[in-house]
Amino acid sequence: RAKQEGRGGFRFFEPRMDAEAQKRRQMELDLHDAIRLGQLSLMFQPLFDLSAGRISAFEALLRWHHPVRGLVSPVDFIPLAEDTGLIIPIGEWVIREACRVARTWPQHVRIAVNVSPVQFGHVGLKSVILQALAETGLAPNRLELEITESLFIENPEATLASLHSLRALGVRVALDDFGTGYSSLSYLRSFPFDKIKIDRSFIIDLLNSKGATAIIKSITTLAEALGMETTAEGVESAGQLDILRQQGCSHIQGYYFSRPIVETAVTEMLASDDLALRAAG
Ligand code: C2E
Ligand code: MG
Ligand code: MG
Ligand code: MG
Repeated sequence: RAKQEGRGGFRFFEPRMDAEAQKRRQMELDLHDAIRLGQLSLMFQPLFDLSAGRISAFEALLRWHHPVRGLVSPVDFIPLAEDTGLIIPIGEWVIREACRVARTWPQHVRIAVNVSPVQFGHVGLKSVILQALAETGLAPNRLELEITESLFIENPEATLASLHSLRALGVRVALDDFGTGYSSLSYLRSFPFDKIKIDRSFIIDLLNSKGATAIIKSITTLAEALGMETTAEGVESAGQLDILRQQGCSHIQGYYFSRPIVETAVTEMLASDDLALRAAG
């Protein structure tokens, strides 16, 4: 090949490039069979309602148990799934599995599911959701879709149309990772999100930056005025929680309250959550 014919720099670099490309190709092939082989699973992380003093929802977080590589992070395989189109069947599996698990939970506990921009733009999403709800009997307002701001950059009109069409089913919509990337206030005005999830990067800065506190304050004020809930992501300490409470944040999610847990542990957590609430009341 041309690259091997005398371009020294390239030749030097090439074996590694090949190894990378090969690894990626192998991961794609493996991911293709992951659903069929039962290698995907969901973990669930609670969202805690600060004013009600109880759990309001769990976010479904995807895990891939690779036979050789072990546990692969969604940060590593979701992009691969998006590039190959595999996110469509994988995303469908996530929605059905999440609804199946959540149907046994108490009525006030919702399930939040991450929806990739690629999946969001796919024509089949609405029918997948309808089917999952019908199959499981889960009330539509117990399903919350988490989407990201990037959708509004790529195709704002189509995004709005899809959001309204999904909302017509009765499902809830949350804006995930708010404040990263392309934040613009105009789309907060154009669609009534149920919830804004404040990105973890702002929470990390809380204890050593007055600016971060001011940003949280302005987001929660804005959200409240627009009738939207706020969830702070990645809360890891009591100090962060105190500030978030003071600044009017309505919900928290993070290791401070709980790491993501398996399905069976959710049932136990909900039982003790209910007990704690009754004891407090
Ligand atoms: P995300 O939707 O923003 O989810 C929150 C991530 O932060 C999760 O990482 C969660 O485990 C982590 N997290 C929660 N609390 C804390 C904390 O206190 N400290 C720290 N350091 N991290 C915390 P995870 O599970 O690795 O997921 C990463 C991302 O992968 C998610 O970010 C989401 O964008 C994507 N993802 C996960 N599951 C799915 C899925 O089913 N479909 C799609 N399309 N994307 C998914
Ligand atoms: Mg999320
Ligand atoms: Mg998030
Ligand atoms: Mg995030």
